[in-house]
Amino acid sequence: KTWILYLTTPNPSNMIPPPNIEERHVKELLLCGPGPCNLLPSVRQALTGPILSPICDEYFDIMSDIRIGLKYAFQTKTELILAVSGSGHSGMECIITNLLGPKDTLLIAKRGIWDLRAETIAYKHGIPTYKTEVPITATFSFEQIEAELKRLRPTALFITHGDSSTGTVQKLEGLGHICHKYGTLLLVDTVVSLGAEPFFMDEWEIDAVYTSTQKAFSGPAGIAPVAFSELAQQKINNRTHEPPFYFDIKLLARQWNCFEKRKEYHHTLSPPLIWALRCCLIELSKETLQRAWDRHASTTALFHKFLKELGFEFLIPKPEDRLTTVTTVKVPSGCSEQDFLKYIRQKHGIVIFGGLGPTVGKALRVGIMGVNSTPAIADRVAKAMADTARGCTKSKI
Ligand code: PMP
Repeated sequence: KTWILYLTTPNPSNMIPPPNIEERHVKELLLCGPGPCNLLPSVRQALTGPILSPICDEYFDIMSDIRIGLKYAFQTKTELILAVSGSGHSGMECIITNLLGPKDTLLIAKRGIWDLRAETIAYKHGIPTYKTEVPITATFSFEQIEAELKRLRPTALFITHGDSSTGTVQKLEGLGHICHKYGTLLLVDTVVSLGAEPFFMDEWEIDAVYTSTQKAFSGPAGIAPVAFSELAQQKINNRTHEPPFYFDIKLLARQWNCFEKRKEYHHTLSPPLIWALRCCLIELSKETLQRAWDRHASTTALFHKFLKELGFEFLIPKPEDRLTTVTTVKVPSGCSEQDFLKYIRQKHGIVIFGGLGPTVGKALRVGIMGVNSTPAIADRVAKAMADTARGCTKSKI
């Protein structure tokens, strides 16, 4: 066998030249869509914390602080609690793939886009699914869910607490108990509800939950807290399938020292993001959950009062189904969704979103959450929306 070694000098004329990446001055706007939300000033500061190696003591100390803070945020004593690298979807993929494999079944409570994402993830991992549905403007009754659990006996039920695509909040208290009667684990998305809507992981018997940092926590996206109950841990310990390496909770638990002081390397977590998440949790602990829930409830009640007075029509008919963090209203007549979004951004410096998934073309989605959940911002956004409804029908943008 002859090996020929080609020693080539790159021909400069063949090289891709260095690009001239332009300077960009991006104006900071008031982010009142369904997320991301603006950063808390302390979180912005925390993002510039020192870069740490993923095996030094300081790094493990921060992870320990985060685990303590997350136990408070989720209201749980579970030890299997940590944050995965990635946005909210990574939390979703993590809990689904660690608990279910092709021999399991997942019942999906479908009312918005996130349940469909869970279905897609399950499909990609060969996990069989069933669906039970309600209209997009409603939430589930426990009777409907229980009938399906009884009939199908699925391994797990996936349900979204706060649905940012529709603007609904699902009652969860008591659902875990019903699931457990049928040997079913309860999996919950709290991406847009945690820190704003009351949530009690242990008391409500929730088996796996994930959230994100860029909504009511007012942090940057990119790190997703997850937690698993004792029952979920038993399922993980007895599972016969393999989850993706990056999201394998058994390996991540060793990195995060969930059960013993191992201090193992799994992957390089982003130091700015762990500093930021730690800061969000410190802020939440200082405010307290109760005060954060009360603040969100009272600000949103005020915002809804303003919207009603200004003539906006809510997409969700029942006030008790309306989510605190994300409000959905019908697009005012005579105004296109896109024109409305453009006008309010250009004239008022406010970002809100149009519909998503089942609400495309049907709703404006307005997020008053986290650092932006204040009466002054509720007033500013409602007035800007009224001005936009008047202005965008007349003007050609
Ligand atoms: N679930 C809900 C309820 C959400 O609002 C979002 C994001 N809008 C997600 C999941 C997905 O999160 P991410 O975009 O951070 O991946």
